[in-house]
Amino acid sequence: MLHNVEKNPCKIEEIRKILKSIRDKDKTVGLVPTMGALHGGHLSLIDACLATNDVTVVSIFVNPTQFNDKTDFEKYPRDIKNDLKLIREKKCNITFIPSETEIYPERDTRQFDFGLLDKYMEGKFRPGHFRSVAQVVSRLLSIILPDNAYFGEKDFQQLVIVNSLVRQLNLPVNIIACPIIREPDGLAMSSRNQLLTAAQRKSAARISSTLLKAKELSDKMEITELKEYVNNEINLDPNLKTEYFEIVEETGLNPVNSWSENVSKRGCIAVRIGSIRLIDNIKFS
Ligand code: AMP
Repeated sequence: MLHNVEKNPCKIEEIRKILKSIRDKDKTVGLVPTMGALHGGHLSLIDACLATNDVTVVSIFVNPTQFNDKTDFEKYPRDIKNDLKLIREKKCNITFIPSETEIYPERDTRQFDFGLLDKYMEGKFRPGHFRSVAQVVSRLLSIILPDNAYFGEKDFQQLVIVNSLVRQLNLPVNIIACPIIREPDGLAMSSRNQLLTAAQRKSAARISSTLLKAKELSDKMEITELKEYVNNEINLDPNLKTEYFEIVEETGLNPVNSWSENVSKRGCIAVRIGSIRLIDNIKFS
């Protein structure tokens, strides 16, 4: 087995050379793309990757272009030292930490057409976000050329869009969806959680508990009524403000207006807590 490789910053040329020697031996390569400040959610993706691939590559790159809010980018948690410690404990094989100029030797001007997939929810409230996500993900996939790449359902819209990207570009990679990992009180793990004050952190648990209640109430309330319920329930806490709560069809991400529509549905939410913005979602039926 390959020795652990940690390169910070890492040149694309170097990683391509290492990966070529691995592929020449018919070994499978899995990729876990992250923005660092690793937590249990990321570690679950790494575990899934380690379980089915000969070599696991974890990339850490805080992609500046996907932040439509400059302060969010500046304040985004970064802790490479601890990330490397966690990755080492997992015995990951390769950690890829590229610099910005390595990823973007020139400005990326590519546009993508995701139809309705990026018109609601994150796509609506974070203009340009998914275009930049698609740009960086396609670059990471073409640098690493993994057999499998792991993405969390926590960012459900991103997961659906990455699947569409891979189909549009005919990329030879399987996208593996991994379930949401939560804190003991239900809050979905997120790098941004560490930016919350103690009081905000306590309030944040209301997001997942409200989604769970919404699921319980889904056979008693119509969709419009349920959406109102969720908004009211969240906003009862003065620390929280819903940006959106949408119930969408899982494959096309179109908002659904009636439970009777025979499609799998997911409730997706974004909540502002002071200057921090958290997202979560729950599967309905
Ligand atoms: P990020 O570093 O936030 O860009 O996340 C990197 C990957 O980890 C993405 O595919 C996320 O969807 C996934 N992820 C983040 N948080 C969680 C979580 N709580 N459970 C499962 N996957 C997660």
